[in-house]
Order: sequence, then C-alpha cells, then structure tokens
Amino acid sequence: MRVVQKFGGTSVGSLERIRSTASLIERSVRQGHETAVVVSAMSGETNRLLGMARELCEQPQARELDALVSTGEQVSAALLAIELHKRGIGAYSYTGMQAGFFTDSRHSRARIQRIECKGLLEHLERGEVPVLTGFQGVDERGNITTLGRGGSDTSAVALAIVLKADICDIYTDVDGVYTTDPRIVPTAQKIECISYEEMLELASQGAKVLQNRSVELAMRNTMPIHLRSSFEDVSGTLVTSEDETMERASITGVAYNRDEAKITIRGIPDHPGIASDVFGPIARTDINVDVIVQNVSEDGTTDITFTVPRGDFGPAMKTLKDVCKEMKARDVKGDDTVAKVSIIGVGMRSHSGVARQMFKTLAKEGVNIQMITTSEIKITVVIDEKHVELAVRALHSAFDLDAKN
Ligand code: ASP
Ligand code: MG
Repeated sequence: MRVVQKFGGTSVGSLERIRSTASLIERSVRQGHETAVVVSAMSGETNRLLGMARELCEQPQARELDALVSTGEQVSAALLAIELHKRGIGAYSYTGMQAGFFTDSRHSRARIQRIECKGLLEHLERGEVPVLTGFQGVDERGNITTLGRGGSDTSAVALAIVLKADICDIYTDVDGVYTTDPRIVPTAQKIECISYEEMLELASQGAKVLQNRSVELAMRNTMPIHLRSSFEDVSGTLVTSEDETMERASITGVAYNRDEAKITIRGIPDHPGIASDVFGPIARTDINVDVIVQNVSEDGTTDITFTVPRGDFGPAMKTLKDVCKEMKARDVKGDDTVAKVSIIGVGMRSHSGVARQMFKTLAKEGVNIQMITTSEIKITVVIDEKHVELAVRALHSAFDLDAKN
C-alpha cells in the first residue's frame, strides 16, 4: 500500500512527540507500506512567528511573512527526518520549494497549481521516507508562498493525489469526527465513516478538524482521508465518497454555531432589484451573509432577514442603516444573541419526515425557531443562543445518535 501520513502541530509539538510520531511512521514502513510524510509546524510556532513580525511592524509585507512562517514546518520536517534516520530509515526532509509544490503568487492564501515530485517517487520505491513541509509552496518566480492557516492538510491531500496513494492519513489530537460536540452531549459517538459532503457541511458549521479546502480537493479526486489520533492507537473517521449501497441512518450529525447575528430590514417598498440593493453594499464590505429569508406582505412591502458572523454585526448594522434610508425602508433591527443548529446527513435524501421530526423535537422543548433553511443534506434553524445546548441534546437523541449503554 502507498500512504501519505500527515502530522499536525501537536503530533510534532515536542521532541517526545516527534519520537512517538516517528514510531508510527516506522511501523508503517516496517509493514511494507510506501510512506510519504507531511508535517505542520510545532504547535504554537506559526503564531509565535507571526507575533514577532507584528511586533516589528503593523503590516509586514505578505512575501516576508510567508518566508517567515514557512520556517516552522522546516524545523519539524528536519527533526523528524533526523529521528527516523537514527532508527535506520532513509528519511529526507523537503521544503515545499524542493518538493516542487508550485502555487500562484497570492501570499498567505496561495493555491497549488502543480506538483513536480519525481524524486519523491524514487524514494518511495527504495523504501525511503520523504518528509515534506506542509502549508508551503513556491510561485513561478521563486517566491515562497503559503496556503492559508491549516494548509498542511491541503498539502497532504494534494501529495496523496499526485503520488496516487491509496489513502491520506491525517493524524491530529482528536480521534475522529463526532456525531456532535462531546462537550455538550457526552453520549456523542465517533463517526466511523462520513461522506465528503457531510464533512464539508459539518466543518462549515464550526467543526474545524480539517482545512475545508483539503476536503474539497479530496472529494474532487476521490482520495479517502483517514482522520485519526496520533496519541491513541485506535481507528478514527474515514472521510470518503458516499456509498449508495450502505444502509444509512437519516442523520449523521448535529452541528451548532454560536458565532451568529441576525439582522432584519423591514418595510422595504417591493420591486425587482431590492435584494441586490440590500446585499450589494454588504458584499462590498466583505461580510459573508448566510441564512436569508425574504417575506412579502400584502401592503406591497418586503422584509428581509439574514445572518452574519457575530464579529461583523456592528459594521453590517451600520451599512444596513444607510441602505435603509436610501431605500426608504421602515427600519432595521438586529440581534446578536442568536445561534444556528443544523442536522446533517446524506440519509436525508432517502428518508422522509426528517424536517417534521426536527421541528417537532424543538417544539416539545419549547425552543422557538426564528429562521429555517435547508439543503439536500442539511436543515438549519436559527434560534435564541440560550437554547443551543438544549436543542443540540434533544435533536441528538431524537435522531437516535446517542451511544447505547
Ligand atoms: N502551521 C500552519 C498553521 O498553523 C499550517 C498548518 O498547521 O496546517 O496554520
Ligand atoms: Mg490543522
């Protein structure tokens, strides 16, 4: 088998952790697997480096920031290669530039364009282990670039794809994806197998385990990801394509996000173009609008309600007040104590009555639903923030996700 193993910051966070990570790699090599490795910087290192730059200068040049933070991954790759060598494994560290990770020139958010990894394949064929720095690449002019925070997940998946690996193992400090946040619901269970789409929906709801881009890339190339713990030797969560033949429960997980605020603009004289008049100015301030509900009343006016990230509430309200005046709407109201709760599952496609069951469950708990939005595999409600835990717990058990015993 050919595998790419990616180790996150906590898995290389100290010399002791580097030794146990080396043991995992050694085991894979001794089992006869062709093994390529991608590492993150030691935990906290990227932030430490960025902090130093910002102490010198409020807005350092993006090019230099990339040169700076890329060193974090170089340190962990070299240390890990040294430890593997000591164990008699032919290990070789490579920076993004050395490994031929060519990207565009957008510093701190570059996209991989191609990977020229001929030398890496030869290592694998000889039973050696290339240890690559994640998160970084080089543009056509030779400038060091980075792929955005959490980007080494994306480096690992991209490498797995070009090396035609059988699987991309992503080792982290959690042992998988759970049916919901175990801090809220102690009976939450580890999900053994989840589809790419569900994983993306869970992540967009705040379950940040993998960089979203890495999941999108894996989905486009059907590269299975095994998300697992480097601290515990148990199997984690397999992120893979949806298997049509598998008998699915209606719901795979319950997600929530407290980072929400709701804005309503009321009594807008209704005519074509108003939605664009409302959201145009918001988009220009770079604020992401999420759940949107529009309602036309009999008197010929419209109300539009939508949510924004809570951190953008202030600026969004300010913009909307100007918009309100200009459009001669009645008023603008805001509430930054709302939250989103979603149920997610590809099983929704084939089970009916899922929405009804969700609403009934919330009603029974006395939770008032303020907004509703649905997609093929997700139903989201906006509710008062103070009811989040109650709602998540009730839904988790109503959809039979609680661990038995
Ligand atoms: N070290 C980088 C970061 O902290 C990349 C990564 O860990 O994936 O964002
Ligand atoms: Mg990460």
